[in-house]
Amino acid sequence: PGTLYVVATPIGNLEDLTPRAARVLAEVSRIAAEDTRHSARLLAHLGINTPMLSLHEHNEARRVDTLDSYLLSGESIALISDAGTPLICDPGFVLVRELRLRGRHIVPLPGPCALVSALSGAGLPTDRFTFGGFLPSKPSARRQALEKWQTREETLVFYESPHRIVHTLEALCEQMPDRAVVLARELTKTYETFLQGSPEELREQLLQDPNQSRGEFVVMIAGASPVARGDEQSIVADELLKTLLSEGVGV
Ligand code: SAM
Repeated sequence: PGTLYVVATPIGNLEDLTPRAARVLAEVSRIAAEDTRHSARLLAHLGINTPMLSLHEHNEARRVDTLDSYLLSGESIALISDAGTPLICDPGFVLVRELRLRGRHIVPLPGPCALVSALSGAGLPTDRFTFGGFLPSKPSARRQALEKWQTREETLVFYESPHRIVHTLEALCEQMPDRAVVLARELTKTYETFLQGSPEELREQLLQDPNQSRGEFVVMIAGASPVARGDEQSIVADELLKTLLSEGVGV
């Protein structure tokens, strides 16, 4: 059987496509793309005319057998999304899961990924982090999601769209007002900007300069302070000790 290559493509700057990705996109017999019209521009830029077929969230499950039949007949296929690494908040998970279950050869080609680029330029701790994908759009669900992450000590990373960024900052003003936040906007593009500050400072900045709300965002939030958690734990320990003593347990 052939190989499924999972190929990362640029998140804005076409120079970020690796030579290996360009070679594989030219050599495979088909490219499964999230949006074939969108990816046609990338292929035209590269001078590649490999045939494409669409693979998006609405047809992914149905595409598995078709793509597998190509692999079984010895063809190799590349999977790409509109931008960045497939499967990272993009289609491809169902296909890769199914093909792996069937024992097919799957090769990921590393390259651009907005969350990794954002973290590498933000200056927040990166030894551990939690990627939360996109926060829910409904205010109540967004609040609940943030509540769930509130006590995490590692850096939190979210993807966000331009029309929700101010709402997300407002939610952070309420729920995590004292955290350091870094916004990475338009990575690898002409107006690439890193903004840092408290949720309130960033909210002000975006409201004052609407240009700063344009484009694509990665939101990074410093983790909860371990000291605060330590305090909570020692309060719990103190109370436990008091209860045990009052119950006459010898300590
Ligand atoms: N698969 C992509 C990746 O590897 O990063 C992510 C796809 S997801 C549908 C799109 C989201 O990724 C955007 O809403 C934004 O949060 C983030 N993103 C993508 N490109 C970006 C860029 N150039 N600058 C900042 N964020 C970006």
